[in-house]
Parts: sequence; structure tokens; C-alpha cells
Amino acid sequence: MVIDVNKIPREGLCLDRDFQFTSLELIEEDAVCLGPTHAVIEIKKAGSEVLIKGKITACLSFICSRCLRAFEYYVNSAFDLVYFPEELDGIKEELAEEDLDKFYYYHQELDLREIVLEQLNLSFPFRPLCSEDCEGICPVCGELVHQGHCSCQVKEPDSRLEKLKLFLRDKR
Ligand SMILES: [Zn+2]
Ligand SMILES: [Zn+2]
Repeated sequence: MVIDVNKIPREGLCLDRDFQFTSLELIEEDAVCLGPTHAVIEIKKAGSEVLIKGKITACLSFICSRCLRAFEYYVNSAFDLVYFPEELDGIKEELAEEDLDKFYYYHQELDLREIVLEQLNLSFPFRPLCSEDCEGICPVCGELVHQGHCSCQVKEPDSRLEKLKLFLRDKR
């Protein structure tokens, strides 16, 4: 869905849309959208800049990076962005480093689908976990540690030590 920047009315636009994304469009490997991504977006012009404020909600299936099981992940993310016209893109190199993540629009157009997809991808966790205290897979038998799938006699009831081990392993 493409917005013509010149046709944004003075009072702005407010849109409420669903977008469908395929797994190939998601940066998270093995992620699957379990439904549409719902977006509520306000678009306003301020001179040549375009202000985009919005909220997205989505439900996805992720693979836990510790236990490798699929789990449902809910996105509920808000964003507040400023898009600059392409003319400013050329002088990017002269801008300070903190300005490098500025957004630009080209040919007087904004592709809302692209913007929503970018924000959806930015909302993903660095390492997906089915739960913060997921214990992962047993290094001995390869079964899930919790829910009694693993029957190995692991002889460390000290959970603080276990947590430290998980922490150190995750840092690697
Ligand atoms: Zn897990
Ligand atoms: Zn085991």
C-alpha cells in the first residue's frame, strides 16, 4: 500500500490495516506469521518531513533458541518515526553518526507495507526464548530438561549454579 506524500491531507491520515507477510520477509529464521499483522498508523506532514506514528500487533511462531521448540510470540509494538525526502539522502555521509538511522522516502512515495514490515522485524527479540527460564535440551540425552522428558541423573540441585551455567552458555 503506497501513500503519495503530496496527497497527505493537512489534518493527516489515520489508517487501520492488516498486512500479510510471508516467512521469507521475516529476519527471524524459522519464524511464521500465524495471522495478519494489524497496524494502526497516523501519518502527518511537517514541511517536507513525514511523521509516522503507529502501533502494530501480530502473532508469530518462533523457534526457541534453547530448546528448539516452536512457541507463540506476540508483538505489540509502538513506533514514532520521521521520514525525510530523498534529497537529504545524498548528504547522509556528512551527517553525524546518530543520524544514520534516519528514514527516507523516495519519489514522493511511502510504502506502508514496507514500513510495517521493517517495524515488525525490529520488534523481534535478539534470541527468542519460549520462556525466560527455559532449561533447554539436556546435553546428555538430548531430551527436553523440563516436564520430565529427561531422565538423566543430573546431580546439581543448586539452581543458582544452573542459572549461572545457562547465563555463561548464552553469552557464548
Ligand atoms: Zn525453550
Ligand atoms: Zn537427559
